[in-house]
Amino acid sequence: ILEIRGLKKSFGEREILKDINVSVKEGEVISIIGSSGSGKSTFLRCINLLETPSGGEILYRGKNILGDDQDVNAYRTKLGMVFQQFNLFENHNVLSNCMVGQMKVLKRSKEEAEAVALKYLKVVGMDQYVNAKPKQLSGGQKQRVAIARALSMEPDVLLFDEPTSALDPEMVGEVLKVMKELAEAGLTMMVVTHEMAFARDVSDRVIFMDEGVIAEEGDPKVIFNNPKEDRTRAFLQRTL
Ligand code: ATP
Ligand code: MG
Repeated sequence: ILEIRGLKKSFGEREILKDINVSVKEGEVISIIGSSGSGKSTFLRCINLLETPSGGEILYRGKNILGDDQDVNAYRTKLGMVFQQFNLFENHNVLSNCMVGQMKVLKRSKEEAEAVALKYLKVVGMDQYVNAKPKQLSGGQKQRVAIARALSMEPDVLLFDEPTSALDPEMVGEVLKVMKELAEAGLTMMVVTHEMAFARDVSDRVIFMDEGVIAEEGDPKVIFNNPKEDRTRAFLQRTL
């Protein structure tokens, strides 16, 4: 569904991403691990064009969306993103948070947007909180609303950037459980995470990034039990 070829990103003189190549199949769940500063967030942000890549190609269903004639806005609606800091609209209630994008971007009617929002709030177990404002919710609840909001746009690929890193430890599990259910339901997901158990047990493939390159990728069992690269082994020893 996505094919990333020779992706590069520089900030000024610094090359942060150097020749990243990844192909993502429909329904695949990919975990991206690596040290702080290795370029994981920049990679996700390039995929959904929150950052403009400095070079390379991103093919979505076979078309290079960095080409001149591509409809970037249409592409963006096919990708959802869940952030570490939730980024909910604080002055909107839970239901409205999940409706705004649908009405503004997808031009859905209020009625349709509400029905879709409720459907996904149920999926994440937050349908009892439709009238709550974000500030009344726990971190885990906020993140589940953020996931419902992303799902309400019915994206083809959902990108997660450390969705549990800002949570108190007791709330990590409820968010991971929702993500596991989405993975099992067949959603295509790319997840930057420090949750090694999630990477090992839920994902189909693990990508280990180091200094702007993919140092190693493969089956989670192989990456965790028998990595080929010394730097993968060193990273895992530091984190596990
Ligand atoms: P972390 O695990 O801490 O989230 P990361 O792997 O997500 O790290 P990135 O956030 O992608 O790493 O950052 C990679 C490098 O790019 C860092 O050195 C960072 O300082 C730099 N960088 C990221 N965004 C920008 C920016 N907008 N301008 C300049 N430098 C940036
Ligand atoms: Mg990051």
